[in-house]
Amino acid sequence: MHAQSSSHATTTTERGSFALARCSCGWSGPARRSRDRARTDAADHLRSAGVSTP
Ligand SMILES: [Zn+2]
Repeated sequence: MHAQSSSHATTTTERGSFALARCSCGWSGPARRSRDRARTDAADHLRSAGVSTP
């Protein structure tokens, strides 16, 4: 993962057969059945938070 100069650091967490995205700012995404979806949620959160992703 690339270092970012913001307070938003997203991770994906698995809960049972679901995966969900979480962020260091306290945000968490909906439970998804695929980790790819959870990562997409995390990317969407970063975009809406104004964090530029490469
Ligand atoms: Zn965040």
